[in-house]
Amino acid sequence: MQPTKISPATLGKLAKLGIHHRTDLLLHLPLRYEDETHLAPIATVQPGQTVQVQGTIAHSEVAFRPRRTLVCRLQDSGGELYLRFLNFYPSQQKQLAEGKQIRAVGEVRMGYYGLEMVHPKCRAVDDDTPLQQSLTPVYPTTAGLSQTVLRKLITNALETLPLPDTLPETLLHRLDLAGFADSIKLLHNPAPDIAAATLENRSHAAWRRIKFDELLAQQLSMRAHHRERGKRVAPALAPHRQLTARLTDSLPFALTNAQQKVYAEISRDLAQPHPMQRLLLGDVGSGKTIVAALAALQVIENGYQVALMSPTEILAEQHYLKLRDWLEPLGIMPVWLSGSLKKKDKQLAAERIASGATLLAIGTHALFQEQISFHRLGLAIVDEQHKFGVQQRLALRNKGKHSNPISPAKSESNEPHQLMMSATPIPRTLAMSYYADLDVSVIDELPPGRTPVVTKLVSDEHRDEVIDRVRAACMEGQQAYWVCPLIDESETLQLQTALETYQSLTQTFPELRIGLVHGKLDNAEKARVMAAFKANELQLLVATTVIEVGVDVPNASLMVIDHAERMGLAQLHQLRGRVGRGAAQSLCILLYQQPLSELARARLKIIFESNDGFAIAQQDLHLRGPGELLGARQSGVAMLRFADIGTDEDLLDHARLAADELLHDFPAAARAHLQRWMANKHDYLHV
Ligand code: ADP
Ligand code: MG
Repeated sequence: MQPTKISPATLGKLAKLGIHHRTDLLLHLPLRYEDETHLAPIATVQPGQTVQVQGTIAHSEVAFRPRRTLVCRLQDSGGELYLRFLNFYPSQQKQLAEGKQIRAVGEVRMGYYGLEMVHPKCRAVDDDTPLQQSLTPVYPTTAGLSQTVLRKLITNALETLPLPDTLPETLLHRLDLAGFADSIKLLHNPAPDIAAATLENRSHAAWRRIKFDELLAQQLSMRAHHRERGKRVAPALAPHRQLTARLTDSLPFALTNAQQKVYAEISRDLAQPHPMQRLLLGDVGSGKTIVAALAALQVIENGYQVALMSPTEILAEQHYLKLRDWLEPLGIMPVWLSGSLKKKDKQLAAERIASGATLLAIGTHALFQEQISFHRLGLAIVDEQHKFGVQQRLALRNKGKHSNPISPAKSESNEPHQLMMSATPIPRTLAMSYYADLDVSVIDELPPGRTPVVTKLVSDEHRDEVIDRVRAACMEGQQAYWVCPLIDESETLQLQTALETYQSLTQTFPELRIGLVHGKLDNAEKARVMAAFKANELQLLVATTVIEVGVDVPNASLMVIDHAERMGLAQLHQLRGRVGRGAAQSLCILLYQQPLSELARARLKIIFESNDGFAIAQQDLHLRGPGELLGARQSGVAMLRFADIGTDEDLLDHARLAADELLHDFPAAARAHLQRWMANKHDYLHV
């Protein structure tokens, strides 16, 4: 058999599917299968089933209401159902004319006239047209590329390309994995006796092999990236333990064991002559800021600069104030830089950064805009790193490529260390899978003396009781947040909702001092409101989700989240983390509006039942999948196509170990494997 020639137009469409080489066709695996191996008598079919039926068209007409639709009545010896087509060609209409014998495959549902299939796959048959011998694969495709064409190309690739196994026999044997060639042949062309369910739910041994291969490729490429980092150069910044010791001595609290452990990990990395790329994970309120401050001091002690970047102005400013309090007594004056600074002040800040007059710069992403250049940046700290896009983190890495005073020859390759922090707990599997090129430190305990937040779910019908509760709490001297409903579609509507909520609450609580923060407020105003709330001049803060990250006001012990059903799990958890920061018992009231969707109900149940960010993230992974959890902004991340880290945790563990083994004992196999799976995926890794 000869390889098929592929037209340029088809090549373009294949490229859209990520198919660039003929070998990629092999790994373009079915999304699902259709069972055309037998016929279901129409009298037996149930709504919700996907079946193949055969019968005669008893009636065919074009209806015009509510829209132009081709409606055909298909009859077999025992029953009848309707076939409906919203978009159809004249040729289809002809094919489905009265009296024609038709085989139709589709999902049955209950329609206006009775059982129906919408847009079933139809073909004309005779009495003796044979049934398919195996399940029919359905491939992911794109407009203008039919299943038939795709199937032909794939079949041709399977028959003409070599299908060597990239994995050594010993590994296959030990992990009880099926062969590569057998697996893909089976998945493209399953034999009739295979249990369809094991293909559908991807538990079949052939799927297992493919998923393993995919996870292994991911691990191998991350490992390669990790190794490559070991070859790059960064300043080695050993701890002198002078400033850091003075800071810890001056704190009103002792570091938790977890804080000490993660700082030790960071400290060791900073002392290496290679760039650190470490992700610091810790639930909201676990105390990441002090760890960041200690890391900064170690760098400053060595005469290098530190940049601390936060995703929002509120958060950046809060860091600035906190670090200034901590570090000023040690003689370190941080510089503040944000987009909203006056031009002159910005210039002044930029000069101090460029000349090296300041060793600590704190701000928003303005820190990494082109005009800003660092004298010698040793460490870049990114708070709430998941809020930043890949591009911004790339910019940051390039910022640090500064002159190397010791060895000018190495200047080009000199990079800053990177510390990324996140309060969005990442389930273990996700961290292993998507952050395998990063080193991860976890703060797994909260500072002592916190009482867990009590969460209550309250239907909007009982809003009045919630209002009484807020009033009583504030009158007792506590402070409260009222989080406005989230309006995803439009910023204007979001603003309007925030203003309306504020107005109505001012009327409801004439006796309270109330503030409002939202994303559209100018920064000075935002800062003023936050400062007033922090100083307990405001009792109730009406806020949009801008307070989601990092805001720290320990006296606030009550939070009401209005229309909680509209928010995601991570968001709810983050918001709730704004209370429960002091010694007082805190309460978070999730006000929801009936009726609840399935998903909203599931989310509220999870957040109600758990206070543990990691457990919540794990559930979130199940509800939404990794793409959503990592955020659409992580666009540089190629998502897994076949493996599901929610359910394939065991395979991921095996893949991790196998990656080490391959790199160590079978480097040629590792290369071949990467070549098969990763040939087009340059952008696979985090930066
Ligand atoms: P996050 O990890 O959410 O950024 P923060 O760094 O803002 O948390 O810390 C939350 C609060 O806990 C702050 O008020 C901080 O000063 C305080 N804190 C941090 N570490 C400790 C500790 N070891 N003991 C007591 N309080 C601490
Ligand atoms: Mg924080």
